[in-house]
Amino acid sequence: MKVLVLGAGIIGTTSAYFLAKQGHDVTVIDRQDSVAMETSNSNAGQLSYAFSSPWAAPGLPLDLIKWTLTGRSPVVVNPNISFETTKFMYRMFKNCNPKSYELNKSRMLRVANYSQKCLLEIEKEIDVNYEQRKQGSLQLFWNLKDLEKAKKDTLILEKFNIKYELLDANACIKAEPGLQYIKNKLAGGLQFKNDFTGNCFIFANEIYKKCLAMGVKFEFNTHIESILLENNKVCAIKTNKGEISSDNYSVSLGSYSSKLLATIGIDIPVYPVKGYSITLPILNDKDAPQSTIMDDKNKIGITRLGDNVRVAGTAHLTDFNKELRAKSLRSLKNGLNNLFPMATSESSDVNFWTGFRPSTPDGTPIIGATPYSNLYLNTGHGTLGWTMSAGSGKLLASIISSTKPEISFDGIEMSRYNYSNKTALNYG
Ligand SMILES: Cc1cc2nc3c(=O)[nH]c(=O)nc-3n(C[C@H](O)[C@H](O)[C@H](O)COP(=O)(O)OP(=O)(O)OC[C@H]3O[C@@H](n4cnc5c(N)ncnc54)[C@H](O)[C@@H]3O)c2cc1C
Repeated sequence: MKVLVLGAGIIGTTSAYFLAKQGHDVTVIDRQDSVAMETSNSNAGQLSYAFSSPWAAPGLPLDLIKWTLTGRSPVVVNPNISFETTKFMYRMFKNCNPKSYELNKSRMLRVANYSQKCLLEIEKEIDVNYEQRKQGSLQLFWNLKDLEKAKKDTLILEKFNIKYELLDANACIKAEPGLQYIKNKLAGGLQFKNDFTGNCFIFANEIYKKCLAMGVKFEFNTHIESILLENNKVCAIKTNKGEISSDNYSVSLGSYSSKLLATIGIDIPVYPVKGYSITLPILNDKDAPQSTIMDDKNKIGITRLGDNVRVAGTAHLTDFNKELRAKSLRSLKNGLNNLFPMATSESSDVNFWTGFRPSTPDGTPIIGATPYSNLYLNTGHGTLGWTMSAGSGKLLASIISSTKPEISFDGIEMSRYNYSNKTALNYG
């Protein structure tokens, strides 16, 4: 069967890999000249299986008020807020209650845990080197009040069977010796031993090479303009280079998925939550981060990738504005210096980057069927697309192949949003 994958980010690339493995004739289209050139390019590199939680948590509305009052909010909303942004925030707030949080978290964890299993399978099948480290992740706390709160929150970790360890300041330094210079400021940390780190861009390129070897075709520099329908099915994709047709189609266009799908009556709430990262060379290995560190207060993630350190953060709600925000650059640099003052040099070249997290209000990705029988989705992975990529790719491939998926896709498909998609059935 022929399958056309729209988008060659980490989600499209892993989809193509698993589809080809299941024997399909796969073509991938992307407007860029290579794989993983947009949001999958310079993300924080965290494979945060244990940390898979929606942003829409019960405490979020209050936190937003507190952050705004202190003037140091990790969430930035443009003053001339658009209708799309308002709609996304409204839908997200509707999920900020304990019942929705637990349901959404359980769905995310299902995909994340499966993804870890699938990533390990890939590592067994092909020799991939993507600057991976398997030393867990560490969430830091700066005062006893926050540490006590974290202890209480471990109930939910136990409920979901997530392995964790509460560390005092000395144990944090044992795990991350580069933190020794700030020992007096640290209250403790929460360590997730089963988390990994790795370079998403390098991984996508390794998978791309394997896809080529399996006969997958990549059409780069090809801009998708519209989806063409006939008899309630997709008959072709219109691009700047002409029409391309296939038996089945899968959309993995990241934050751009919803715009294209809206033109054929499919309303999915994928919104571009902009984030920033900096990457800079490590000066001293012993003073540098060894794995992934989350600074909960400043809402930044710091990750070791090869000889570099990457720091990422900020949720900027500004639609598709690609401008690099100087204030975020400063706060990421300060965040790194506060934790690892001796790891890098002030004069180092910094690679400052921005990307749009394809976010859903409930945090869960959208994988599976649409009202059009030969059109599928694999999108909306938000803050955790790298973490969830391998499992999402394999789940999608099983759904398209009509083989029994290894995990349930209940609550992962677009049908969980039942507000308007019925109209799609009348198109074509
Ligand atoms: C600052 C930041 C830090 C992050 N950190 C982490 C992390 O540590 N761990 C984690 O798991 N996740 C993280 N994420 C999230 C993760 O990066 C994303 O969820 C993931 O990259 C999304 O992948 P994707 O393939 O869906 O989208 P993309 O990588 O954006 O791919 C979509 C592709 O579609 C193509 N495309 C779009 N429109 C068209 C069109 N009209 N025609 C042709 N091609 C088109 C684009 O060129 C692109 O290649 C982070 C994100 C950000 C912004």
